[in-house]
Amino acid sequence: MEFVEQLKSSVDIVEVVGQYVRLKKAGTRWVGLCPFHTEKTPSFGVHAVHQFYKCFGCGAGGDVIRFVMEIEGLTFYEALKQLAERHGIPMPKRSDYSDPQTKLRAALYRMHEIARDVFRSALASGAGDEARAYLAKRGVAPATAAEFELGYADGGGQALVRAFEKERFAPEEMEASGLVLKREQGSGFFDRFRNRLMFPIRNEAGKIIAFGGRALAAGQEPKYLNSPETEIYRKGRVLYNLDRAKESIRKGDRAVLVEGYMDVIGVWAAGVHQAVATCGTALRPEQVRLLRRHTERIVVNFDPDEAGMKAAERSIETLLEERMRVRVLELEGGLDPDEYVKANGAEAYRAHLDKAPGYFNWLADRARARFDMNTVEGRVAGLQFLLPAIQRLSDKLERAAVADEVAGYLRLERGLVLENFRRAAAERREKTIEQPKEPARPVERILINAILSSEEACRAVLPRLKSMAAVQQFATRRIFHALFAMQDAGAPIRFSELSGRLEEQDQNLLAAVVFSDKGEQEDHSPERALECLRTLEGQEMESRRAALKAQIREAERAGMLEEAMRLMSDLNHLDRA
Ligand SMILES: [Zn+2]
Repeated sequence: MEFVEQLKSSVDIVEVVGQYVRLKKAGTRWVGLCPFHTEKTPSFGVHAVHQFYKCFGCGAGGDVIRFVMEIEGLTFYEALKQLAERHGIPMPKRSDYSDPQTKLRAALYRMHEIARDVFRSALASGAGDEARAYLAKRGVAPATAAEFELGYADGGGQALVRAFEKERFAPEEMEASGLVLKREQGSGFFDRFRNRLMFPIRNEAGKIIAFGGRALAAGQEPKYLNSPETEIYRKGRVLYNLDRAKESIRKGDRAVLVEGYMDVIGVWAAGVHQAVATCGTALRPEQVRLLRRHTERIVVNFDPDEAGMKAAERSIETLLEERMRVRVLELEGGLDPDEYVKANGAEAYRAHLDKAPGYFNWLADRARARFDMNTVEGRVAGLQFLLPAIQRLSDKLERAAVADEVAGYLRLERGLVLENFRRAAAERREKTIEQPKEPARPVERILINAILSSEEACRAVLPRLKSMAAVQQFATRRIFHALFAMQDAGAPIRFSELSGRLEEQDQNLLAAVVFSDKGEQEDHSPERALECLRTLEGQEMESRRAALKAQIREAERAGMLEEAMRLMSDLNHLDRA
């Protein structure tokens, strides 16, 4: 048996998905909240018999390998390898189980490890004096620098190039790493990061996938330079320090979102292990989803300057959109988290985290500080300022409660506030995959489910269905055409192969047929399928008879007696059949 098939048949998709999603059993199906989009009522299902998953909200779907690829961000071969390792199934040592993409990614991981080592030894060397002085000034102890594997990229621009050439990486691999750049003139490469303090960025599994570099010289721009996106690094899908912080986040049921690497390191060294940061970009929904697997509660603690406040406002919107429970901490004295723990200690910081106010109070305070609350115009402007955050509340009751609060805060009429909320909410509706225009009828549902669950039904039903005109009227006709083609080709008739032959629209229809609530109570035995077939044949006979009778009447009326006689004999033939 092909290895992929062997693997698929020895792992259970319900068990694999269950490691990421809380699933509830409903017959042969399991349902839960989709991990690929944010929702409140489950539209995500896993089918134990056909071994596939499908989300009727966002359309995600596929087999167990697809699921692991999507949720872990892996290539096909990496997903195979992970599944095989976790289930103790030996991988065949054949080169075709490693495609060029997987090989390239392995080289990039290796190059990032080498870069970390090069940067670390440079930090310890004489060249790193200035970087070490900066760390000392920021109060980062050598042990902390070692724990976070901080390093130094020297100003020469050849350290990584030399290290990579020594290891004989191909020029394409060097270019794809994002760590070195091709010279515009002449040949060869030079290092992207020069004279910078280096922060390794790890994915959730702890692998280094990128670097952030802080400028050390006065006037050196930009202040922070990050790796570009590469085959292993997607900016919007990584949170700095999540690999270390996730255990503490889960235990304490709370995450802390700070602005920069130094904040994360500073509060970590003081003993607060729940902080994560974006890597120099605005917070993305994908990043929130990473967090959400560990906790729903988050405290946003950004720098107290205007840029930090604006970034906090944007982050709150994204967090609310992903249904996080958000609090905002603004530290007294205009201190950022790193400065605060150094000045006041971890205990004081933790106490502030515990009593951080809900996001709404913080936003309302921002509105009151920004607009003149003594005029109606100012108060309405304040309401407009609050709307984007509030329109992301998808719960009606919660919105109504917030409307009361907003009205009180801004001294506006409750009706006016609610009206604005309603309009804002109407603009935002949860998107769902396009529902099929003509849903499958019960007979189609029974036939498809029976065919997919027994070979006997296949053999008995498919050949007879093939010659029937009724199939052309089915909403599921293209699914049947695929089934006919599969039987003609002698291919085994299985859900995954069938689904693979269909266009997306029909894949959705097939999933709906297999996942149907009504299907759970239906009899999908071969006998029941044959019964349906006979009913269809009876109906078809009846309509052919009716058509012939109409043609006969037509011929008689036109005086075409010979034609009428011929049709009559056809009709007799039909009656005898
Ligand atoms: Zn979904």
